[in-house]
Amino acid sequence: MAGPRCRAVLRAAAAAGACGLGAASLLRCPVLHRLARRAAAALMALAGPLLFRVGYSLYARTRLGYLFYKRQVKKARERYPRGHSVSRPLGFGVVKILPIPVLSNNYSYLVIDTGSGRAAVVDPSDPLAVQAAIEEEGVLLEAILCTHKHWDHSGGNAALRQQHGSCKVYGSALDAVPELTNPLTDKERVSVGCLSFEALATPGHTVGHMAYVLDAAPFGGPPCLFSGDLLFLAGCGRLFEGSPETMLASLDVAVGLGEDTLLWPGHEYALECLTFASLLELDNPALERKLLWATEQRQEKRSTCPSTIGEEKTYNPFLRTHRRELQEALGLTRRSGEPADAFRARVLKEVRRRKDLYKAT
Ligand SMILES: [Zn+2]
Repeated sequence: MAGPRCRAVLRAAAAAGACGLGAASLLRCPVLHRLARRAAAALMALAGPLLFRVGYSLYARTRLGYLFYKRQVKKARERYPRGHSVSRPLGFGVVKILPIPVLSNNYSYLVIDTGSGRAAVVDPSDPLAVQAAIEEEGVLLEAILCTHKHWDHSGGNAALRQQHGSCKVYGSALDAVPELTNPLTDKERVSVGCLSFEALATPGHTVGHMAYVLDAAPFGGPPCLFSGDLLFLAGCGRLFEGSPETMLASLDVAVGLGEDTLLWPGHEYALECLTFASLLELDNPALERKLLWATEQRQEKRSTCPSTIGEEKTYNPFLRTHRRELQEALGLTRRSGEPADAFRARVLKEVRRRKDLYKAT
């Protein structure tokens, strides 16, 4: 889950505010009018987060969320019969990684051991699109690696399990992943054919969010991070179920994987995230170059995946909370006695707040 619901909630809040202002306009007295405007603004400030929490709970915890997801899938299939982006597979030795564009901006990934014909899929949002890729590749689906419970990442688990009886569903027990058969804890490993994945607990977006790292070293490739909604090209997931401190620690785990690690995110958000980042850091050549490149890519609907952790460190504001230029751009300074990580969490919180507002407009 990423943004549209937030916009709907904000629209609801704006509508509520507009009603308040309409009533105020009946008041001819300028003082009363001003007071009414302030009261409406205060109400909006209170109602916005409350409506958002209610909307999020309905999405994440009730059947309404599933029905919303089903509608999203149907609309996306009609709008993008061949997927929202053009993606290309990547291979190292016997490993083949096939990004599958699903819904309006999600990615599932089919990761294949071409030697044995066994495969795992990360976040099968749309089971039909994933099944089509499985049939085209002629592989046996052994594992679903689910990053988190949101329907736009886990909605295809049940249908694929029904079709592939021996397929196991991996994820965190903390996250109510549909059809979960094999709960994982931090740093547990999953093997599929000769492929080995490490599960990393990366809470913040949800309480049980997990990322998966494919060890491609035996095949001459770099590590591959399937980050779900932890980390995007130039962005990070919303803090639905975690504090800025929690998210910062999870992002530090991703950074700790090393510069050559390939980043395979859960969404195609590159252009939006890079544009937002460029409003924060006005003089960052790496950011300018990446934005130009992404603009060209997206004009042709080409996928922007993967980037690398090394690249992300040069332009992704959520990985640059330690950088003075970003702190200054936000107008934040470290308080005396404030621990470095507490300050970085404050910077992350402010970047996230601004991004949420940017997305809502
Ligand atoms: Zn999500």
